[in-house]
Order: sequence, then structure tokens, then C-alpha cells
Amino acid sequence: MKVAVFSTKSYDRTFLEAANREHGHELVFFEPRLTRETAALVQGFTAICVFVNDQLGAEVIGRLAQAGVQLIALRCAGFNNVDLAAAQQHGLTVVRVPGYSPHAVAEHTVALLLTLNRKIHRAHARVRDGNFALDGLLGFDIHGQTVGIIGTGKIGIEVAHIMRGFGCHLLAYDPFPNPEADAIGISYVPLSNLLAQSDIITLHAPLTPQTHHLINAQAIAQMKHGVTLINTSRGALVETQAVIDGLKSGQIGYLGLDVYEEEADLFFEDLSNKVIQDDLFSRLVTFPNVVITGHQAFFTSNALQNIAETTLANITAFEQNQPLANRVTLEKVTR
Ligand code: NAD
Repeated sequence: MKVAVFSTKSYDRTFLEAANREHGHELVFFEPRLTRETAALVQGFTAICVFVNDQLGAEVIGRLAQAGVQLIALRCAGFNNVDLAAAQQHGLTVVRVPGYSPHAVAEHTVALLLTLNRKIHRAHARVRDGNFALDGLLGFDIHGQTVGIIGTGKIGIEVAHIMRGFGCHLLAYDPFPNPEADAIGISYVPLSNLLAQSDIITLHAPLTPQTHHLINAQAIAQMKHGVTLINTSRGALVETQAVIDGLKSGQIGYLGLDVYEEEADLFFEDLSNKVIQDDLFSRLVTFPNVVITGHQAFFTSNALQNIAETTLANITAFEQNQPLANRVTLEKVTR
């Protein structure tokens, strides 16, 4: 099948080309993101392959359908950037890669937590500068802390496994409790209890209308003073101005982000010679108790290999009219 691959980086190409040896699709790699402006590139393609910041709103989907595209193959787990109603209306099939490596994202979540707590980012800079003073680097034992996990799907449950190993108490909020949770010692509680009782709160729910700005001023006000908040899910789960206010008042003690609500204009590009125009983001990076990574939680070789293999298997299954295990529809998200 002829596939237009958008937002291509060299690593995407490497892993997709390797996996494609078993599938033989015609992959054409485009560096730009899929947007209203680049949608014309899809002419003549039956399938497109897209990533987290490609824009698949109703207008773009209309153009894809007009150009003859039949399949949208997401090479990621989240699908919040796709207007599923528009895809259904135009008869486009959407597939994704669920759970390509929950370990990758869970481990990065814990990396952010450990970095913030033990101030590794600051210690590294100090030691390189010949400064071996410990003032300002005081951390806390993670053992014995209460960790609140919002969303206990594949990634959330993996975070729970790791934090259990640290000797933490585990609370969770999820409208669809995970059957594995009991065995790990997770207690499901209402969201307000989780917010009030957790020392560390970590977000692993998808971005939906229900989770948009789940962490806003009201939610932050319910948290323990000095709480640690980690978001490796999707940026818009968190209202940025509210967390900035929370950091300034001390209500939020530590903030670790791998995702940011306006990341599409920033992440995955080298902007080191440019002036960042996003003032909220620029304010966030000034806090000593904030660590931000640019949507790299998924970025392990294991995950990239799984993503490439599943993406191409999804495309092959569609081409051969086989059942689509990873199809995303409005009604049902097949996990
Ligand atoms: P998953 O579908 O296995 O789990 C999501 C869980 O969230 C489910 O248990 C679901 O019931 C729960 N949920 C849904 N609505 C909720 C709500 N309102 N409140 C609380 N929980 C809710 O997904 P996953 O594989 O664990 O991935 C979770 C998210 O992580 C993805 O949606 C994606 O946005 C993000 N992600 C980020 C990266 C990264 O590199 N940073 C990589 C992969 C996935």
C-alpha cells in the first residue's frame, strides 16, 4: 500500500524501513507535520501514517477523503488529535498502536520523579561547575509516600508496579478500574480523595473532553501543600497557568512534564537559535523545581521497534481486509 508518512524524523525512517522489509509497503517520508497547509501532499496515497502532533481535525480529514485516503495509521497510542466523528463520516478507518511499550513511558515517569526529588538536574550542573555544596539539594524518601495514579491502563499500572517496588502506598482514580490493580495493592478512590491524600500525583489518562484541564486551579487547591505532580500523558490534562500559580504559591512542590498543552509549536524541533514565543512555557522553565522533557517518554529502541512493527501490521491487515485489532472508533476503543 502507498503510505504517506508525516512528521518523519531520521529515527522514524530507520525503524519503519526495517519493519517494512516484512510488509513491502511503499513508504514515502515527509518531514512536515500534517496540517491544513500540508494536506495537499496526500494526493495519490491510500494510507497516511501520523504522530502525536499531526493535526487531523474535520477539515484535514475532509481533504484526506477527497484525495482518496482510506486509512489513518497513528504511530502512537493517543488519538486525541483525530476528529473521529469526521473520520467516520468520511468512511476513513483509524488504527493506532496501543501499549507499544508501557515500560518506556512508566520508566520515564519515574525518571522525572527521581530527578525532581533528588535534584539531579541541578546537581549535575553544579558538579560540572566545580560546586560540590549540598544546600538546596535536599530530597525526601520516596519509600512510604502515597502515590496517586490517575488512569490505570497499561502505563498507569506499570507505574504502580514500579512505585510498589519503592514501598509506596498506591491510590488510583479511573472510571474503569483495572482488574490487575488489586494484586498490586492499589486502592481506587474518588478523584477528590486522591487529590487530597497523595504526596505524588501522576497522570496516565488519555486526553478526552472529560480529562481536558483535569488539573486546574480547583484540583490543585485540593492537593497537599508541596505535592509532586508528574504528567507524561497529554499536555492539556493540565491547565498551565494554574500550575504556574500553584508553583508560585508553593502548593505544587515539584512539577515534572513530558508533555505540554501547546507543545505542537515547540517539541521535536531544535529551536535553540530561536526566541521562544510561548510565554507560559518560558515561565515554566525558569522554576528550579520543574523538569520538562520534550515528549520523549516513549523514546526507547524497544518502543520504536514495536511502534514500527505494529503500524505496518495494522496497514497490512487493512490492505488484506483482515480484522483490525487496533482500530479506533467513536464507539469503541479496542485496547
Ligand atoms: P490505556 O488506554 O491503556 O489507559 C488509559 C486509562 O485511562 C484507562 O484505564 C482509562 O479507563 C483511563 N481513563 C479514561 N478516562 C479517564 C478519566 N476521566 N480519569 C481517569 N482515568 C481515565 O492507555 P495507556 O497506554 O496507559 O496510555 C495513557 C496515555 O499516555 C495515552 O492516552 C497517551 O496520551 C499517553 N502516552 C504518552 C506517551 C509519551 O511519550 N509521553 C507515550 C504513550 C502514551
